[in-house]
Amino acid sequence: MAKVTVKDLNVKGKRVIVRVDFNVPHKNGVITDDNRIIAALPTINYLTENGAKVILLSHLGKVKTDEDKIKNDMSIVAARLAEVQSAPVKFVNATRGAELENAVAEMKEGEIVLMQNTRYEAGESKNDPELGAYWASLGDLFVEDAFGSVHRAHASTVGIPTHLPAAVGFLVEKELNVLGGALNDPQRPFVAILGGAKVSDKIGVIENLLKIADKVLIGGGMAYTFQAAEGKKIGTSLLEADKEDLARDFMAKGAGKLFLPVDTVIANDFDNPTDIKTVKAGEIPDDYMGLDIGDETIAEFKKALEGAKTVFWNGPMGVFEKPEFAKGTIEICKALAELDGATTIIGGGDSASAAKNLGYAEKFSHISTGGGASLEYMEGKELPGVAIIPEK
Ligand code: AMP
Repeated sequence: MAKVTVKDLNVKGKRVIVRVDFNVPHKNGVITDDNRIIAALPTINYLTENGAKVILLSHLGKVKTDEDKIKNDMSIVAARLAEVQSAPVKFVNATRGAELENAVAEMKEGEIVLMQNTRYEAGESKNDPELGAYWASLGDLFVEDAFGSVHRAHASTVGIPTHLPAAVGFLVEKELNVLGGALNDPQRPFVAILGGAKVSDKIGVIENLLKIADKVLIGGGMAYTFQAAEGKKIGTSLLEADKEDLARDFMAKGAGKLFLPVDTVIANDFDNPTDIKTVKAGEIPDDYMGLDIGDETIAEFKKALEGAKTVFWNGPMGVFEKPEFAKGTIEICKALAELDGATTIIGGGDSASAAKNLGYAEKFSHISTGGGASLEYMEGKELPGVAIIPEK
């Protein structure tokens, strides 16, 4: 069953509240990456072109103090939004009250109102029922298009659609189609590549993908917990000792499909590495730490990827922020970008930035806009902001 989409709604003349993901990175009032604004345009443009009055809601950053409010003022997004599409944009520096209500009442078809940061309201993250009902009272219809936030049950993602006819926007629809395709009906072989710092962040996704994928390749800092669990020497590498039993369990369940690094790039110090070398996995001297996968592992992982028809990648293979330890991530990214005839999916986060920074973004079938949401989806969890939208 598919979700109701924005195309199923009769939007002409209606006040349509759209939960977008405008949580863009910014520094000193300057947006450093406007991808999320651009990603929201298909839905926004469809609505303005079809005569809707478009009311946009999003969070921006974390808001706990008054200082956070100043830092995460949504007005910077309004300025950029006005530049990248043609409809008039009115920014309302309020999250409730007469100014907001009047701005909405004065809207004409095809116009846009962007509200101040939803997190200016303490009730947003608690899904305060009063807040959700109040925001819903500003509109006739609701569209969920903030994939990066659908794993959170907040007033703007779940509270509002409790009260209004609701649909998913084009961005959420695409994410669900691509990720859902990989999860429910993948073209095989399906290979998952998981990296990053901690096993604890990825337990659910490893568990679920070991059931669904044909191969699961594990790199990054979390690989060392697996090696420690086998009684191997990992030096001062990242270790979650309380996850060793779980790692053993995964290795037993995943026998034949779980691939771990066979060699590792090590260094004597994280901040100031003066001695860098490659050793066999599990043979790391006591005062060294593993910071990337080695060349043999790169070759093995590339071999495991040969012929793959679906690939899901989340998490770097090493400390890719430092050039000395970026090779594993770069090589895996390249190998994926060059795969022929495969659906290649990046589950957001650091792997998405790696692909973009390396100039390979266009070579992937899909780069998810929601790191946390795509991981939870691949874990097989229900996403509250999606569950609340009715099926067709
Ligand atoms: P995550 O958010 O879980 O995907 O983790 C990403 C972070 O993991 C990046 O900042 C990497 O620098 C870090 N990381 C990857 N491999 C290692 C490693 N071997 N040791 C320490 N940190 C690592």
